Amino acid sequence: METRFIADVMLGRLSKWLRVMGYDAYYQSHYKEGVLERFVGEGRRLLSRRAKLVEQYANAVWIKSDHVHEQLQELKAKMGLTTDRSKWFSRCLLCNVPLQKASSEASVESVPDYILHQEVPDIHSCPVCGRLYWPGSHRTRMTLQLKEWGF
Ligand SMILES: [Zn+2]
Repeated sequence: METRFIADVMLGRLSKWLRVMGYDAYYQSHYKEGVLERFVGEGRRLLSRRAKLVEQYANAVWIKSDHVHEQLQELKAKMGLTTDRSKWFSRCLLCNVPLQKASSEASVESVPDYILHQEVPDIHSCPVCGRLYWPGSHRTRMTLQLKEWGF
């Protein structure tokens, strides 16, 4: 089964990059009492920079660095991260849910013409927030960044 994560409060950027790679990475900047326990109980692996917290949960991963590229390397070394590029950009970076094929009506207003006029436009939308995703310069930058980091 696909690994799902829950990232501790200090790991917002890491969770964003995990989402870029297609991982289900739950993150909040604040967790109410009991929320971490519940999500770990549902099968998520806790990622945290707090060693004391990590000790409390089976399968939790302690993250040492406070730089996101080193955090990704740590995770890769400790548990392996997917190199399956077909998974990249398949998830909303804000809502952490899988994207779906966007309707053409929704796309017309915000997607650049050169994307719309492709034979099979690769436009996806988030079923929660409605944000549209397509292969543009933003995605190219993130892909280059991941390549630079060795993914
Ligand atoms: Zn969304």
